[in-house]
Amino acid sequence: MKKNIKKLLCVLLCITSVFLLCSCESLYEYLDSDLSAEENSLPAPRLVSHFLDVGQGDSTFIQLPDGRTMLIDAGVTDEGDGIGKYISDLGCKRIDFLIATHPHSDHIGGMRRAIKELEVGEVYMPKVTADTFTYEKLLKELGNRGLKVKTAKAGVRIASSADPQYTVDLLAPCGDNYEGLNDYSAVVMIRYGGVSFLYTGDAELASETEMLKSGADLSADVVKIGHHGSSDSSCEEFVAAVGASYGVISCGENNDYGHPHKQALKRWEKAGTKLYRTDLNGTVIISSDGSEICVDTERQE
Ligand SMILES: [Zn+2]
Repeated sequence: MKKNIKKLLCVLLCITSVFLLCSCESLYEYLDSDLSAEENSLPAPRLVSHFLDVGQGDSTFIQLPDGRTMLIDAGVTDEGDGIGKYISDLGCKRIDFLIATHPHSDHIGGMRRAIKELEVGEVYMPKVTADTFTYEKLLKELGNRGLKVKTAKAGVRIASSADPQYTVDLLAPCGDNYEGLNDYSAVVMIRYGGVSFLYTGDAELASETEMLKSGADLSADVVKIGHHGSSDSSCEEFVAAVGASYGVISCGENNDYGHPHKQALKRWEKAGTKLYRTDLNGTVIISSDGSEICVDTERQE
């Protein structure tokens, strides 16, 4: 009898073990499938473009999809500290690519102060000089920090990444002899997945015409509209070639130049571009995962 009980207990133990093993296996399978489901649903890295409200001037801080960063221009002198703080508050300690589109004070004035507390990687400027205190001081500061200035011109690839896949290219300046400084503006195109963001500095008709002639693909989903919305920029052919869904104009409230000009606004509206303005919307943040585009503004109009 005792032997039979022992046998029964043994059989029961075996059955329980097999059951437990099976349960464990299905638990592992469950955990495994859950983990891979979680892996698959990880959000795609984002390209985030902060069109900063710097009054009458220009400054855009960009977080690239692989974590690298870029600062295009830094407004007038008094805006520099605020730009630096904005970047630091995002948890960024470094600007990998610093671009001064052209040496006008509403673009480079605040640069020295903006980068004061930040590490800087590469610096790009067009090959043109300005006989101003602001420009000389910026060059001196960059020199003191051991930073060499690379020439910004059409055809230069600033950055690329295979995973996530994106590229940063310069589309202008195409030439090296312009009447005004604005047409020397470095024009930046970022392509990420199926979307593209274009930053045109203060490029005017001469540069826009050259970009059109160069055969470069100018089409973009998002555009930083040229020269604060001046009618000297945004010629009809250029606007049509860009064909952006979203456009941002960086300008100050009641500025002395009457920016943005009605003619330029009309050309973009005719092309179906939804416009945002830093004088009305404050800072505008446009981001993308490579397919969808999100727009966030500091203020509603
Ligand atoms: Zn400007």
